Formats: sequence, C-alpha cells, structure tokens
Amino acid sequence: MPRRPPTAIDQYEALSTVVRLVRGDRARTRPELGTTALLGRTVISQRVEEAMNLGLLEDADVGPSSGGRAPRRLRFRAEEGLVLSAVLGATALDVAVTDLDARVLEHRHLEWPVARGPEETLDFLDDQFADLLKERAPGRLWAVAIGVPGPVEFATGRPSQPPIMPGWDGFDIRGRLQDRHGVPVWVDNDANLLALGEARSTGLDDDQHLIFVKAGTGIGAGVVSQGRIHRGSKGAAGDIGHARVLEDNSVMCRCGRTGCLEALAGGWALARDAVSAVHEGRSRFLADAHHATGEITPADIGRGVVAGDAWCLTAVARAAERIGSLMAALVNFYNPDCLVFGGGAVTGGDNTFLRVVDHTVRSRALPLASADLTIRASAAGETAGVAGGAHLAVETLLSADALATWAPGGRPSAVEPARLAGGA
Ligand SMILES: [Zn+2]
Repeated sequence: MPRRPPTAIDQYEALSTVVRLVRGDRARTRPELGTTALLGRTVISQRVEEAMNLGLLEDADVGPSSGGRAPRRLRFRAEEGLVLSAVLGATALDVAVTDLDARVLEHRHLEWPVARGPEETLDFLDDQFADLLKERAPGRLWAVAIGVPGPVEFATGRPSQPPIMPGWDGFDIRGRLQDRHGVPVWVDNDANLLALGEARSTGLDDDQHLIFVKAGTGIGAGVVSQGRIHRGSKGAAGDIGHARVLEDNSVMCRCGRTGCLEALAGGWALARDAVSAVHEGRSRFLADAHHATGEITPADIGRGVVAGDAWCLTAVARAAERIGSLMAALVNFYNPDCLVFGGGAVTGGDNTFLRVVDHTVRSRALPLASADLTIRASAAGETAGVAGGAHLAVETLLSADALATWAPGGRPSAVEPARLAGGA
C-alpha cells in the first residue's frame, strides 16, 4: 500500500485511532476517547462524525455520568461489513463468514486435502464462500482472509516452498481471489492467524507478547507482539517446525532436510514411529488400532495416551520435551508473557503434553524470563484461525493508511483491491 504524504494534522491517523479504540472496547464515550487517545474535543467530535458517516460508529445508550450530563456511549457497527475467512489444513479446512468484530456468523469444518492443489482448492473455496454469502448482502463484503499450512511471503501473498502443499509454491492466491471477489485479500501462515485469534479472543493487552505453538500433525508457531503479528522481514518468523534439533542425518523430514523438530516431535513423526512400535510388538493398543484401519494416525496416539498405553505416553512425553526444549530457548530470546499451545497434541483430553512442556520450559529457561510466564492450552476454540484472519483484514482496513485510501470512496470495495491488501 503506498504511504500517503504526511500532513500537519493527520486526520486519518485520528480517525483510525477513534474507530479502533471503540472497536477494541478501550474507549466507549467521546470524553473517554479524548483521554485515551490524547486528542482534543474538537478533533474527537469531527472524527466520530466522520466515522458515523462511514457507518462505522453510532450513538448507543447513555453511559455513566461523572458529575454533569451523562455522555452517550459509542458503538462500533460490526454489521457494516462482512469478511470471508478460511484456514486450510493438510486434510481439512475451516471456512467462515464474520462481521467486522471478527465474530463468526457461520462456520464450516470440511474434509479437503490441500494436496489437491491451488486451482481445485480455490474453486472449492469459492463455492463455499458463495454459499456463505448467499443469504447476506454481497455488497457488504470487505475482505477475504486465507491461512495456509506453510510459509507465506506476506508482501505478495504467495506460499514459499510449503512442504505439505504440492503445487502451491509461488501460487498467486491473492491475485486469484481478488480477481474473483473484487475485495482485498490477505494470505498468511495458519499459525500466525491462530496466534492473532487467540490474542484477540482472550483480551491480550497491546503491551504483552504471545507465542502460539500449533502442535498437531506438523509444528508451527505465530508471534503476536504489541498487538500485531510479528512476521519478520519476509513472513517466516515463527516457523519453528523445521528448526534443526538433531545433528546427525538419521531422521528425514518431509521438507527434504534432516533432524527437524517436526521430524522428531510432529504428529506425523509419532505416527511413523508408532508403525515400527506395532511391528516390534511394543504397543497392544496401537496394534489393535492398526488392525482395525490398516494405519495409525496422530489421533490414535492421542487416544492411546488417554487409555494409558505406555508406548503412547512415552512418545508424547518425549515429543513434548523436545518442543519444550526449543521453546525454552525461544522464551529466553523473546521473553513472552504467554506461551499458548494448540493443535491435536493438546486437544486429546489428556494433559501429559502440556505438563511435560511446562516442566521443560520452566526448568530450562532463565528465571527472569519464566517467572511470570503463562503456559497454557489455547482458549480460543476451533474458530480461532478464521477469526484471526478476519481480525487481520479488518484491522488493516482500519489502519490510517488504508482509511486514507478507501474512506473518501465510502467503503473498501470502492477502490482497487490491490491498493489495500498488504502489510499490517
Ligand atoms: Zn523439515
């Protein structure tokens, strides 16, 4: 997005601040806006009126009085726009339509292998999107957000050599979807969107730092710092699954290299080891599972842990220790307030994984870095990723640069999508 030339009093900076404070429930009346944003009464009143003309704010009920006449409360009009949001996984995808608060209005979890490639997958998504918009006014569509299970060059919205997405390397997901829907499109790594969804749904303060680790079939992480996703230079930040944690070349990873964290502690690696354990007669539980279906999935190992199978318990504890060991180094390096785990490893109904991770991180990280560190399972639920995508899109469109681009035309869809999609 082109930077606008600086002006003496930046009206869009103030407009963005006003709208975002009300949307985030951090200021609810004009006087509160003045105090929180450190802006004068006239500026607040003008910007609130401008936001009302754009349909973004409205007067609601009367707030508490601090002596004189009680000020009117302001309300963010989340119903002014819609966002279509999807998060692709290896074998299934989530698709949803949300309002401008990223509140999920309708959500579907559908089986779909991402390995079918971009053309077929995006056609399938388009059908789902059309269906979700059917009963709703399509003119209210503000944006589309997509999360994918691999590295994304954020500036261009293209996956970059994603190990489990054959055919997607360099594919112009953004261009394809913008042509189809005529609204700006954001493409990001799934763990980044999970991290943002978690931060927003649990009310993480803007001065706090969160790392979200997705430990499922694969392993990835997203970082939220000062209210925003930290992507680093190109978008690769947080991609911990392919950090090399074993120095010899004995364990092959699906990315083509050896010794990656994921190749030792990811769900797919545990399933690989489980097959050997069955052949060596080391797990009765897994032998039964293998006999029933002819294969072993990470979910089978999760069930084995709940059933108390010794091999499964040991395998999950060792994976947790490997992940915890790397996270201890990252806790020292990054000093987050909150370390959150999501994905299949923590949703199996047993706390072995989290208990071992917690112990490993706390025993290996510096006391100063771990003293007030919260380590917990994700609280955001199964729509965290799609909600995170919607937050990313809406928050970017409510930034000062984006507002300066679209507000004169009245709504985001009034301008060329390529002028709006880009960095947040
Ligand atoms: Zn790897």
